[in-house]
Amino acid sequence: MAEKKVYFFGGGKAEGKAKMKELLGGKGANLAEMSALGVPVPPGFTITTEVCTHFMKTGGKYPKGLENDVKTALKKVEKIMGSRFGDHRNPLLFSVRSGARISMPGMMETVLNIGLNESTITGLIDKSGSERFASDAYRRLITMYSDVVMEKAAGIEPKEGMGIRQQLEKEMRKIKKDKGVKFDTQLDANDLKKLVQIFKKKVKQVLKKEFPDDPYEQLWGAISAVFRSWNGKRAIAYRRIENIPDEWGTAVNIQTMVFGNMGESSATGVAFTRNPATGENKFYGEFLVNAQGEDVVAGIRTPQAINKVSKTDASKHLPSLEELMPKLYKQLAQIRTKLEKHYRDMQDVEFTIQDGKLFMLQTRVGKRNGAAAVRMAVNMCEEKLISKKEAILRVNPEQLDELLHPMLDPKAEKKAEKLASGLPAGPGGGIGQVVFTADDAEAWAKKGKKVILVRDETSPEDVHGMRAAKAILTAKGGMTSHAALVARGWGKCCIVGCGDLNVDAVKKTLSANGKILREGDWISLNGTKGIVYEGQISLLPADPEKNVYYKKLMTWADKLRKLNIRTNADNPHDAKMARNFGAEGIGLCRTEHMFFGPDRISAMREMILADDEAGRKKALKKLLPLQRKDFIGIFKVMDGLPVTIRTLDPPLHEFLPNDQASQKEMAKQMGVTVETIKAKVQSLHELNPMLGHRGCRLGITYPEITEMQVQAIIEAACNVAKRGIKVHPEIMIPLVGTKTELTNQRELAVATAEKVIKKTGVRVKYLVGTMIEIPRAALTANEVAEVAEFFSFGTNDLTQMTFGYSRDDAGKFLPGYIAGKILPADPFQTLDQTGVGQLVDIGIKRGRSTRSNLKVGICGEHGGDPKSIEFCHKVGMNYVSCSPYRVPIARLAAAQAAVYPMR
Ligand code: ADP
Ligand code: MG
Ligand code: MG
Repeated sequence: MAEKKVYFFGGGKAEGKAKMKELLGGKGANLAEMSALGVPVPPGFTITTEVCTHFMKTGGKYPKGLENDVKTALKKVEKIMGSRFGDHRNPLLFSVRSGARISMPGMMETVLNIGLNESTITGLIDKSGSERFASDAYRRLITMYSDVVMEKAAGIEPKEGMGIRQQLEKEMRKIKKDKGVKFDTQLDANDLKKLVQIFKKKVKQVLKKEFPDDPYEQLWGAISAVFRSWNGKRAIAYRRIENIPDEWGTAVNIQTMVFGNMGESSATGVAFTRNPATGENKFYGEFLVNAQGEDVVAGIRTPQAINKVSKTDASKHLPSLEELMPKLYKQLAQIRTKLEKHYRDMQDVEFTIQDGKLFMLQTRVGKRNGAAAVRMAVNMCEEKLISKKEAILRVNPEQLDELLHPMLDPKAEKKAEKLASGLPAGPGGGIGQVVFTADDAEAWAKKGKKVILVRDETSPEDVHGMRAAKAILTAKGGMTSHAALVARGWGKCCIVGCGDLNVDAVKKTLSANGKILREGDWISLNGTKGIVYEGQISLLPADPEKNVYYKKLMTWADKLRKLNIRTNADNPHDAKMARNFGAEGIGLCRTEHMFFGPDRISAMREMILADDEAGRKKALKKLLPLQRKDFIGIFKVMDGLPVTIRTLDPPLHEFLPNDQASQKEMAKQMGVTVETIKAKVQSLHELNPMLGHRGCRLGITYPEITEMQVQAIIEAACNVAKRGIKVHPEIMIPLVGTKTELTNQRELAVATAEKVIKKTGVRVKYLVGTMIEIPRAALTANEVAEVAEFFSFGTNDLTQMTFGYSRDDAGKFLPGYIAGKILPADPFQTLDQTGVGQLVDIGIKRGRSTRSNLKVGICGEHGGDPKSIEFCHKVGMNYVSCSPYRVPIARLAAAQAAVYPMR
């Protein structure tokens, strides 16, 4: 551990800076940066993440010297502030705030007003001139401290609804009820003074411990609680979802308190330097007068907009900050510009106004949804804030998914019954069955159901359910509430602050405008407008081509990328959709799907049942025209683009029925006995079909199958070529392990193709190549390439065979492997670069050693995974191929791969 454990910031200076996030956490690093920039930040200091790691490793001990370092830093703050921690005449109060390397919204703990006790409160009353304010601060301290330090960090797990915080809140409600008032602000000094004593008694009674009076005991209690919160349940759950390493730890920030609740000239709020939902270059935020920060997020009162453009239906009748405190708004807007210029990205800030003086409490790169990310990247590039390459890197390729994602069908929406409306926190459409708890959401989703999680408001404990749900709906909360923040980060459809809604999570019902819905009832959300409908409204696919920012960004990406992007498609419809998304060819057309159609399966079965070549050929003749027609359709759509067609791959038993009844039915249809069919099924039975009679092994045993398929491909090609359509068929032989296998199939294919070409008199160009999906083929790629004109890495099978995991059976252990960190990720989703990747790299190098112009691509699931795409770029592939919806993602990921090394 480094010698320096504590970093000071304040008074226009700082020992840390924004780049030091690993050591100071995001919050601490940025507080330091802002402070050094001359932005008004309450002074304080940061204890490093290394101290947290030490604390966790040693079971709760601090490194030597820390206490002294903290004292020294504290003295510095006291000097700037001209007040003293624990002084009863002029007390300094602190907030103790967590802050990890990357923000984990609301996952960890913060305690405010540390240093307040029966004696220092007198000083606070003198200073503020308000007994009410001081008592309010005190009751907040007791609530937060008893919850975070005395309960959570002590490992106490109260029964549902019996946490100390809830018990204290209940006491507060009681007082309000007795007094007949609705809002906290309506309680006067005497009420709050009484409440403080009630709180203290309650804490003693529930937690069996006196609330600590000693400021230093409070301070160190809060520091250790923040460190412990790193290993709290919800923090761990969040790290799992977001793939954040457990070792990082959190920093602790000890910062001078400033008060947004000192009266009508005080306020607190949150803002985004641009609109995080649309990306528009407009300052956007909310605030509350006479409140402390937690009140904004908790949705206790309706927040007011900071300016006109931030107004919503809920806040349009309330004055904005610009109207209420124009000078301070102007200062805030100037800070906005300063921060954006400095950070060159959209910032998410927290501010507090204490008695007419503005302070910034936090800044960080703001979360945004996909559409906003794209728009901001393009705008910022055009504003010359960032370069094109940076713009490309600003959008997470996965986020494009949201732009490609469906919305409610506007026609159906017009006719639908509106249930309620709220704030549009996450755009797009969502339909699902109503559930009321995060656990239910997860359980139902696991069963394959589409659910919408409906809550009064969400808390960090709900993240697993929010993840599982198709959409999220809350009755409370504003655009910066927990639900809105999390949904935005994930690009999920979400509506918050739906005031018409009454949610009863215990009875599992919701009511709105006289209607009552129960668990399992269907609703539909329009997250773009914030409208909730009863029942199911159909979803329409998105049309990203109408989005000018998206189009611009993709043009830039296409110019930068080196990889071509193809698609996996086996019918004209998918092929067309993929072309619209920007696909530059088909990388994998599976032909077996074509044999399952109702008009084909019987011919296929006839072929399988045949005892000899003549019988098989007869059946194949029936399939030939059907296949040819399929290929004509695809070639027409792909006009001029390459199309890779794979010959038959799965074992034949997959085409025969397994159960008695279907076998009987088939026997009747084909005019044979059930016994014949049973015998055939029996004879095709394999112990391990994955490694059995499939792929090129079929074509070698039954050459007539390959012949028919090649004939269909080339006849189709000649047919369209005659009509002036350009066509580039690529015949791909699957599951090759040796050169001789491919030689066999290649000779067959070439002979067949040439025959067709001669007969039709149309010279079409075609390639014959192979899939590399067996480790042996990768290792002997130099030999295989002598007879292959292209390679396409079938990384699904290659992963399966390299790991020795059957993909169909991996469900039994793979999730456990990932949870237990035996594997870093699912190798079927993200290419295992260390192992499987080596085979790919070897395969390409050796292949090109004997055929320098060998065309190489990938057609496994990995072809649409950004991390894997980066790898494909690095090893020098020519293209990646993925499912149609992932084509835009692949285009951007390929551009990022080309840009990364230049950063
Ligand atoms: P989180 O990481 O959950 O956002 P923060 O550390 O930002 O937690 O603290 C939560 C809230 O507490 C802040 O939004 C702010 O309103 C309030 N807060 C924190 N530190 C101070 C402070 N020094 N003065 C006034 N309010 C503070
Ligand atoms: Mg926190
Ligand atoms: Mg914060």
